[in-house]
Amino acid sequence: MKLSDRVGKIKPSPTLAVSAKAKEMASQGIDVISFGAGEPDFDTPNNIRDKAVEAIREGFTRYTPPGGIVELKEAIRNKFLNDNGLNYDLSQIIINCGAKHTLYNIAQVLFNSGDEVIIPAPYWVSYPDIVTLADAKPVIVETSDKQGFVMSPDDFKKAITPKTKAVIINSPSNPTGALYSEENLISIARIAHEQEIIVISDEIYEKLIYDGKKFAGIISLMPEIKDQAVIVNGVSKTYAMTGWRIGYAAGPPEIIGAMTKIQSQSTSNPNSIAQKAAIEALSGPQDSVNTMVKEFVKRRDYMVNELNKIDGVSCLKPEGAFYLFPNFSGIYGKSYQEKTISNSLELSEFLLDNARVAAVPGVAFGADDFIRLSFALSMQNIQEGIKRIKEALDTL
Ligand SMILES: *Cc1c(COP(=O)(O)O)cnc(C)c1O
Repeated sequence: MKLSDRVGKIKPSPTLAVSAKAKEMASQGIDVISFGAGEPDFDTPNNIRDKAVEAIREGFTRYTPPGGIVELKEAIRNKFLNDNGLNYDLSQIIINCGAKHTLYNIAQVLFNSGDEVIIPAPYWVSYPDIVTLADAKPVIVETSDKQGFVMSPDDFKKAITPKTKAVIINSPSNPTGALYSEENLISIARIAHEQEIIVISDEIYEKLIYDGKKFAGIISLMPEIKDQAVIVNGVSKTYAMTGWRIGYAAGPPEIIGAMTKIQSQSTSNPNSIAQKAAIEALSGPQDSVNTMVKEFVKRRDYMVNELNKIDGVSCLKPEGAFYLFPNFSGIYGKSYQEKTISNSLELSEFLLDNARVAAVPGVAFGADDFIRLSFALSMQNIQEGIKRIKEALDTL
């Protein structure tokens, strides 16, 4: 069977091999500790679930308008007003089937063949493929742990060509947890403004920030770019609602209108019941978020401390999200059973085989010296997992 050229252009995920093997080991009764989770280990809060049950009972089970229901758009408008000081009209807001789908729609309505999209690395795994699926070209700007994993305004400027159409900013970041400073964001916004580059700001980890740091979005910091910027957000991470599939965007009416058109011919609308639940998530009590943040801080601090005690490993303390992105390159070159560990994939395989610990290799995020360890698992599992990592590395 001959499949489309489009499918051939995107790579199978390098994380797949490790996670498939981890699942296989678990199914054989081997207790694998997984640091691979890309979602909170908490349950969706009960007040949110109750609203979904209520929606089902009331028969709110039909198609909704393609861009989402007005009541949820209003809740989103209030969220932007209260949290970000940004005033959007309802025609500037769309609800999609998860923030990944929001990004997919944005790429479909904005990019043409030949367009370049600047993506700082380490990046969230889906950005390059979403850009590629829209026929555009991802332009990767490397950042290092030494510079705190944030793209400098200078490096941004250097990556710009006449073909540059957009830049994707993700702060706090998956996989690094890095938070861009206000200064840095303002400089990036200024350059984007001068060069008429669209800013796509993925703010899905906005509420998962630690140590009293405050979130500042690039558009709130420089409202001049509001007409050339789209904010992406969603309920998946903040409210432990990954399975509900609700993401949203705010931006210029032309972009939002075009996204609505695409959506009307693809998914029709986001799930009706999940939309009702999302209203409660955004407008109801927020204490579950604080509980989650408090727990995440404890786990993060423990893991960062323990990892930094290991020879050959160095780990920055992330300011947001729920991932650590430790540098393991000090381990590279070491051997076991006649095999040498020389990259993040081989390191992940080693950890799985010899420590029964699953981690996502950094190469999936465009950074091969690193692995991603989630802290969305219980403290007990974290302690056991770190112990296993140490013991396995001691055998090298
Ligand atoms: C999880 C994640 C998303 C997508 O979340 P959805 O579940 O699709 O809403 C988008 N961006 C980043 C950086 C993420 O980590």
